[in-house]
Amino acid sequence: MVNAQQTAIVQELFSPLYEAKKVRLFLQRDDLLHPEVSGNKFRKLKYNIRYAIEQGNKTILTFGGAYSNHIAATAAAAKLSNLNSIGIIRGEEHLPLNATLKTAVDNGMELHYISRSDYKLKKDVSFLEGLKQRFGEVCIIPEGGTNQLAINGVAEMKADWGQEYDCIATPFGSGGTAAGIYSVLDEEQQLLIFSALKGEKVGEEFTSILADNNIVDNNNWTMFNQYHFGGYAKVKPELVDFVNLFKKDYHIQLDLIYNGKMLFGLTDLIRKDYFSPGTEILAIHTGGVQGNKGMEERLGLGLY
Ligand SMILES: *Cc1c(COP(=O)(O)O)cnc(C)c1O
Repeated sequence: MVNAQQTAIVQELFSPLYEAKKVRLFLQRDDLLHPEVSGNKFRKLKYNIRYAIEQGNKTILTFGGAYSNHIAATAAAAKLSNLNSIGIIRGEEHLPLNATLKTAVDNGMELHYISRSDYKLKKDVSFLEGLKQRFGEVCIIPEGGTNQLAINGVAEMKADWGQEYDCIATPFGSGGTAAGIYSVLDEEQQLLIFSALKGEKVGEEFTSILADNNIVDNNNWTMFNQYHFGGYAKVKPELVDFVNLFKKDYHIQLDLIYNGKMLFGLTDLIRKDYFSPGTEILAIHTGGVQGNKGMEERLGLGLY
């Protein structure tokens, strides 16, 4: 994992819409960074795994929901680095395991389920101490993997850009990816953040992540919170159709939780003339396609 290939390709997408609006849209294929540790989770875990090894930790412990890409990615990354992994999963166990959790277990992750109310304590110092007492000297990575080391890993993606873009677009969950990208932008570049979560507070959350990690806020970012389709992991037929059509047009699979919503939003903004002619936009495909299988099982969806 630590020495794996880390360069993402950037490809331009073409469509009559972009041509008519005179914008150029590029897609950074972080979804192809690694076969098992996909996308932004690879970037976020890289220095966390390295740190655990340097500290002499044998076990990584982290948190997530039952469909979490972070859980799947951490299990795979730990295995590749000969570390044990423990996943603290929100809610009750459901058997048979869904595709995400089964992959995690197949990669050696030990799963422990905790109630939704206990899960809310996941940042609480005494709760974390309790976990250390229960599981021994574990290296704890927060939910979604967002911490300073993760931000440093995400910041490295700038090396793959090859040119300056006017706007960079990214999905938003726990905010580490957006913060990492923001940390390397020039003041004249704009970060477009597409929230996968419902709520009015996502902008404030992003502001506090920047402050917590000493990233100067120049206000050249915009949080879009109208493309969440009802909230985290919620879908509507319109979104499924969009993801299917995108696959047909570009032969690129999007996930339904993050990138489908971001590209739906970007397309909507392009259509509504949000961008002035000549704007060059780079969208980051953060991966997460592994989650589609679980969504299909859960919702009985028909993805191509
Ligand atoms: C986790 C995840 C995100 C959200 O990243 P954050 O750093 O938590 O905001 C975006 N896209 C995919 C595919 C993810 O798995």
